[in-house]
Amino acid sequence: MINREKLKIKFEEEMKMFDSLHPASKKMFDKAKESLLQGVPLNWMVRWMGEFPIFVEKAEGAHFTDVDGIEYVDFCLGDTGSLVGHGPKAAKDAILNQFEKGASFMLPTEDAIWVGAELKRRFKMKFWQFSTSATDANRFALRLARRVTGRSKVLVFNWCYHGTVDESIASLNPDGSVSPRKGNIGFPVDPSITTKVVEWNDPKALEEALKDEDVAAVLCEPVMTNVGVVLPDPGFHDILRKLTKKHGTVLIIDETHTMCASIGGFTYLDDLEPDVVTLGKFVASGIPAGAYGMSEEFGKRAVIEIESEFGVAKGIGGTLAANALTMAAIRATLGEILTEEFYVRNMALAEKFNKGVQSVIDEFELPWSTTQLGCRTEYVFSKTPTRTGTEAIEAKDNDLDWYLHLACLNRGVIMTPFHNMALMTTATTQEDVDKHTHVLREVVKSIVD
Ligand code: PMP
Repeated sequence: MINREKLKIKFEEEMKMFDSLHPASKKMFDKAKESLLQGVPLNWMVRWMGEFPIFVEKAEGAHFTDVDGIEYVDFCLGDTGSLVGHGPKAAKDAILNQFEKGASFMLPTEDAIWVGAELKRRFKMKFWQFSTSATDANRFALRLARRVTGRSKVLVFNWCYHGTVDESIASLNPDGSVSPRKGNIGFPVDPSITTKVVEWNDPKALEEALKDEDVAAVLCEPVMTNVGVVLPDPGFHDILRKLTKKHGTVLIIDETHTMCASIGGFTYLDDLEPDVVTLGKFVASGIPAGAYGMSEEFGKRAVIEIESEFGVAKGIGGTLAANALTMAAIRATLGEILTEEFYVRNMALAEKFNKGVQSVIDEFELPWSTTQLGCRTEYVFSKTPTRTGTEAIEAKDNDLDWYLHLACLNRGVIMTPFHNMALMTTATTQEDVDKHTHVLREVVKSIVD
């Protein structure tokens, strides 16, 4: 049982320890505030535990060192942007080599052909296009879906996350209506106009929302990953596919995170048959990149629509998208890093990580549960795995969450902020995993009765 009084006291102690451990980061943060909004180049970076973010000096594999000279085991890996580890050699060589030969031409290189064919093999999607982020891949997939169907609405699941895609930052209210998600700043139009939201694992609500045949696309992950891991009920994907087909709605499966589960995400693992698959994050080892693959039928319809607009799809693309550097990085990442062996090794390690967490849960009889998703693991403050976004949000415990992240960080272990997620990469060792278990046990012990 967590003792809230102890939790409060310990949290204050950890905050003081954080300050005393990081004078150089604090100095940099103060300097950064002179020119960067909130003292960071991206506003998300202030959402780490502690009064200021730690500044990174250098990283290698599954570890990084901050500007105060402290080394960390990195289980966050850039929230999957570096799932392949920091600076994997194959990608480094390919990136340096291509940079010497030229980075950006607005013309294709041979690598693009290799990458297209490899993605086609993995995801069974016939035609591929590229973007500079997963967010953009989702945005472009939605544009094409709207154009092809002639419909305007998008359907997403409550508490989903697909990047900063305007239509998807919407919440389901208890009365079934839709509102802008709290913190959705400056939305272009009220998402209730653009978006329908239903709970994950609710086929009835899904059918109800699709039956008016005004929904261009359903955008979803195969497994929800942004509010902890929320698995689909058995058969839910079959129903989703059946209903979207029946009502002429495009099904977009966002595999940005779930490609941690296999070489072709759940589309490959579970033989899903979406119309479009989207990807990003680690697919180019940290060089900004996104990709979206289309079924033959959807691709052909999309091409006709694009060509009817003088051959150029306005609002789709970007000059740096699919450039030579990106394609070289994706080729090396898929060809030499994200191999079957990568998944076999790191899934076994993720299993061990979860066993370690489970041993702490058992020892202190905590009402928590763990879930593994390929190389990704997560524990949530709920005795049983959650089934919907709402259940997952209700299981959140911010005080506990902040304390655990902060106390782990102070002991050299980095967990992903906002949730208790850890990623395993080839450079992660058994000792790293054991260190996490040891630290978690120590920090939990100090706040329980
Ligand atoms: N899709 C999913 C499922 C995500 O979780 C995210 C980001 N966490 C994105 C897309 C967007 O990725 P990015 O911010 O790199 O564009």
